[in-house]
Amino acid sequence: MKTEELLKFDREHIWHPYTSTLDPLPVYPVKRAEGVYIELEDGRRLIDGMSSWWCEIHGYNHPVLNAALEKQMRDMAHVMFGGFTHRPAVELARKVLSIAPEGIDKIFFCDSGSVSVEVAMKMALQYWYAAGRTEKKHFLTITKGYHGDTWNAMSVCDPVTGMHGIFHGSLPIQYFIPRPECRFGQECREEDLRELKECMAVHHADIAAVILEPIVQGAGGMWFYSADYLREVRALCDRYEILLICDEIATGFGRTGKLWAVEHAGICPDIMCIGKAITGGYMSFAATMATEAVGTVISSKDPYVFMHGPTFMGNPLACAVSCASIDLLLTYNLAEKIGNIEQQLKIELAPAALLEQVADVRVLGAIGVIEMKKPVDMAVLQAKFVEEGIWVRPFGRLVYIMPPYIISASELTRLTRGLLKIVKETE
Ligand SMILES: *Cc1c(COP(=O)(O)O)cnc(C)c1O
Repeated sequence: MKTEELLKFDREHIWHPYTSTLDPLPVYPVKRAEGVYIELEDGRRLIDGMSSWWCEIHGYNHPVLNAALEKQMRDMAHVMFGGFTHRPAVELARKVLSIAPEGIDKIFFCDSGSVSVEVAMKMALQYWYAAGRTEKKHFLTITKGYHGDTWNAMSVCDPVTGMHGIFHGSLPIQYFIPRPECRFGQECREEDLRELKECMAVHHADIAAVILEPIVQGAGGMWFYSADYLREVRALCDRYEILLICDEIATGFGRTGKLWAVEHAGICPDIMCIGKAITGGYMSFAATMATEAVGTVISSKDPYVFMHGPTFMGNPLACAVSCASIDLLLTYNLAEKIGNIEQQLKIELAPAALLEQVADVRVLGAIGVIEMKKPVDMAVLQAKFVEEGIWVRPFGRLVYIMPPYIISASELTRLTRGLLKIVKETE
């Protein structure tokens, strides 16, 4: 098939994320990818600024990860997890639990981030069901969050960007309070905590859990907030008997400079979601983890089991590549590696803050964000970035990058230079 035919078929039949079937946004055909480079069918090579949505922390086509998959494939690609277990699953569970925040003790493997959020919310509800507190069935969250596209995950996404307008009436109703305005690295003032405290004081009796992305809100706004806030959430959850679910699907595995974002606040959630980078970006896979107490309470009352079990639960290929990815990650000096990227992003993105069209520039770990004053035209900007040899996919007013951890200083400079050049040209 010629590239033009391929693109034609794609346009006519294939849904891409958040794109019209009548007038779809352009897509670029990728031939292969290696390291930080994505190669298009026409031979152009782009430096990846997105890590394919937070996932490709070690870059593409990594020999160690490839080898782990090939080795596992020769034993078995898949086997059901009901009634069976296997070395890749046990090995991965041991690895993840050994590096998870202190207090996390149980792990449930699932197939995608959204499913892991569904599982987390279900765990919270089953916990209170087993504890005889069935009135606790709502969730409290902050605005501008993103937790996935499935039903309950969507119900705790930002009400405006999270499509609540369309699905109003069918989505479960949750409690929303404004996102914390206190920035990362700053203290929270009393007024930053007021709505959180009020909502918990008034509604704690029917709140099962608080769910939020710790420290970094990703797709809902690329916002970094104060660790004080997260500590306060933890303290209030304890005080009011509310579980805390931390969604580390985007932040986990080192992205913010710590292995887990909750480490910035020194807290442990009751339930924690991980995904995205878990496989090093090789395939869809995720997990929901919980404290021993959550596991114990759920299993202490009829039906005595946690009511969930996806077909591809604990898929051996995914477990094997995740093990290899985590081993690789642990060989890095994470503080130094991410610290260097952070320093470089801070220096190289700083000039953007002086531009008339830019509202804010912020950097945390290996994440750099330029917030524009006006929404940008994604298709137009994307094409310009491709011309510059970089892959950046903005949304709304946000132009941002989260490159693979293996990016070299000179590659990162090419990325930030291209980014700045196009931002300067944008109204
Ligand atoms: C991407 C993401 C999800 C959803 O994960 P999928 O694998 O796309 O279902 C949930 N929560 C956060 C914080 C995410 O970034």
